[in-house]
Amino acid sequence: MSSSYTVVNPATEEDVTEVEMSDLAMTDALIAKAADAYPAWRDVAPGERARLLRRFAAVVDEHIEELAELEVRNSGHTWGNATWEAGNVRDVLHYYSAAPERLTGHQIPVAGGINMTFHEPLGVVGIIVPWNFPMPIAGWGFAPALAAGNTVVLKPAELTPLTAIRLGELGLEAGLPEGVLTVIPGKGSIVGERFVTHPAVRKVCFTGSTDVGKKIMAGCAEQVKRVTLELGGKSANIVFADADIAKAAAAAPGAVFDNAGQDCCARSRILVERSAYDEFVSLLEPAVKGVRVLDPADRSSEMGPLISATQRSTVQGYVEGTEVAFSGSAPNGPGFWFAPTVVLADDPQQPVWREEIFGPVVAVMPFDDEAQAVQLANDTEFGLSGSIYTRDVGRALRVSRAVEAGNLSVNSHASVRYWTPFGGFKQSGLGRELGPDAPHSFTDVKNIFISHD
Ligand code: NAD
Repeated sequence: MSSSYTVVNPATEEDVTEVEMSDLAMTDALIAKAADAYPAWRDVAPGERARLLRRFAAVVDEHIEELAELEVRNSGHTWGNATWEAGNVRDVLHYYSAAPERLTGHQIPVAGGINMTFHEPLGVVGIIVPWNFPMPIAGWGFAPALAAGNTVVLKPAELTPLTAIRLGELGLEAGLPEGVLTVIPGKGSIVGERFVTHPAVRKVCFTGSTDVGKKIMAGCAEQVKRVTLELGGKSANIVFADADIAKAAAAAPGAVFDNAGQDCCARSRILVERSAYDEFVSLLEPAVKGVRVLDPADRSSEMGPLISATQRSTVQGYVEGTEVAFSGSAPNGPGFWFAPTVVLADDPQQPVWREEIFGPVVAVMPFDDEAQAVQLANDTEFGLSGSIYTRDVGRALRVSRAVEAGNLSVNSHASVRYWTPFGGFKQSGLGRELGPDAPHSFTDVKNIFISHD
């Protein structure tokens, strides 16, 4: 039996719409349709597949405002973020639309004939998306997967299905054949698990929590199913005393409070060299108080609400019993609001320091030297991203190489560009998305020898 889910606006707590959730039978039928669509899509000439993806990008571009408005209402993302996110889907489609004609193999010298390799598509790819970045994470999966000749089934998070559903419609409008990109809203325990167990789904691309990611990896092992995991994070922002402290303090709130801290790359641990600690904390306070936490539909809003009442009480739980140094503001009244909060930490075992909070809470701790900074930064099961603020080029290089994380930035917090690889070390993930190599991770290499004789 299928059921429906009421989508709620997190900024107002008002119902937005009802979405039908697929049951197992519907999921199986849609996976079968994607499997049926695969041979013809695989055989579309590279230049034609490229043209269809470019057209898909153009149609997304024509609907940026509509997609952004949907995301503001469904996810509480600020207007600025939501328009960036819709534009990111367009750009990722554009970028990978150049891949079909460039998916070249090797010709390798051998005796008695020729040897060549092909990057063969896998078949149906299942993409499972979390609620924090519904549009970009969908696009990071489907654009390179489609470019490489796979068909895609995509499950959005229960809380945030609206933009994914619309992107599926826009794909059809752009001319993608039926069954090539199919959005299947539903529960993780039904639709998501079926991607793992269904033999026609040949790869699962999962972004979400580390606990669910481990289950998916174990499930995929049953069929030696390909899997990419993008999981949690607890990234460090390391500020050395030789850095531009004013610049580091001004940039720190954006690095953790963007998307209300519901960001796997959030720099939620700030490590500050002891001699600069007081100056940094005193400069951080006005920067945090200046964050404009407003109705996300207000074009000047810099931070919106959390996604749900449950998420708000989880975040609140991390702050209780800690030493709150200061906090910013948040609207009163309806909505799942939480003010940006700065906690002073002195024990690396504190949950606020160790666990991914996924809310606007940052913990600050002093360190004494470079070795201790690296040790504290690496004292976590995660390894997604991080930042290093210093004017010393040698130190920037040493520390960037020593921090165990997949995406680091020096004197900056930028960690996502669609044309550079993105992914985690340790329990933050497995495999990489984006960048020039992503289409390869949606293929298997085939080696063929042809004898001269
Ligand atoms: P989640 O793990 O609860 O859910 C993610 C998705 O998996 C949802 O679509 C959910 O329905 C589905 N799911 C749940 N149980 C499943 C199961 N048993 N089998 C198959 N699918 C299942 O995560 P969330 O709360 O939606 O998202 C927050 C998490 O995502 C955070 O830990 C965050 O760090 C992580 N995240 C990571 C990245 C990254 O790129 N590394 C990016 C964004 C979010």
